[in-house]
Amino acid sequence: MKVVDYFEKANGETLISFEVLPPLKGGGMQAIFDTLDPLMEFKPPFIDVTYHREEYIYKKQDSGYYEKTAIRKRPGTVGICASIMHRYGVDAVPHLICGGFTKEDTENVLIDLNFLNIQNVLALRGDARKFDGKFIPEPEGHNFASDLVAQVHSMNNGNYLDTLIENGAKTDFCIGVAGYPEKHFESPSFETDLNFTKKKIDEGGNYIVTQMFFENKHYFNYVKQCRAVGIDVPIVPGLKPITKKYQLNSLARMFYIDLPEELVKAVMGAKNSAAVKEVGIEWCIHQSKELKKSGVPCLHYYTMGDPDTIKRIAEAVF
Ligand code: FAD
Repeated sequence: MKVVDYFEKANGETLISFEVLPPLKGGGMQAIFDTLDPLMEFKPPFIDVTYHREEYIYKKQDSGYYEKTAIRKRPGTVGICASIMHRYGVDAVPHLICGGFTKEDTENVLIDLNFLNIQNVLALRGDARKFDGKFIPEPEGHNFASDLVAQVHSMNNGNYLDTLIENGAKTDFCIGVAGYPEKHFESPSFETDLNFTKKKIDEGGNYIVTQMFFENKHYFNYVKQCRAVGIDVPIVPGLKPITKKYQLNSLARMFYIDLPEELVKAVMGAKNSAAVKEVGIEWCIHQSKELKKSGVPCLHYYTMGDPDTIKRIAEAVF
């Protein structure tokens, strides 16, 4: 079933969903099951699986010189989605990115997903590879998520890249896109970013999942601004609890988000790592309860392989 149909069916009730990361190459499905098994009692209708493109690493050669090599550290998104659907009977939402994909690669993945009866995708651009400095698309790939959305939408209308295909089977993907309550870091202004997000919806996006935020006012303002420019799709807040002190800096640096002074002080003042975790959990519970009370369609938790923390939060909120 499509993600937006779950929202429709919920009739105003707030749903819960989770995001998982593929294990590092060499790991097995058990890592995913260990994360999800304890969370399934909360009945998430769908689970997102992230996609990770190749990264450059420098390998030391016998000569002593370093060679730049591209490797994919976390492959397996599509297989993991199929496995989740098989084990739990819930929908899986693979993240699909522009980076590393030609349009034809994308088309072939969409065909596979369709054959697997995967009806949802989250369409993203992906970040720049480390050492690239800026996002570089494949020569025959997409520059922006809106172009990827347009391709998925086009297949939903039975149009394939090969124009010789007549009466191509129409896919029926529900398309999610990313949104940034505190603006995407590359965008010169909040308004510019908002207009490009609108483009993703105009091209066929059906719902938005937000970047994490630690103050609900960012989400509420974002929804207001989206509605003002005519974005009328469901907007799902993405949430992640702080569990370690270093995340105060790493989350701010990696995701270009602000952390409120009250949270920063509480984490800094925590006596030990267990106390830091308690602060993070309590903060996320408070955020979740307020968002739920305001009638958000779904609370989407970034699990980061830590089911115990997410379970504590879900128990307090649902
Ligand atoms: P876009 O919507 O294409 O926007 C990228 C930038 O370009 C923005 O600054 C935007 O304002 C600008 N822009 C858009 N269109 C145009 C245009 N036509 N002309 C000029 N500028 C334009 N990354 C992964 O690699 N794998 C994942 O699984 C993953 N999952 C994510 C899940 C969520 C919920 C979120 C919020 C992010 C996720 N990301 C993931 C990170 C994401 O790929 C990065 O944030 C990336 O930098 C931007 O992706 P986007 O889809 O928002 O890009």
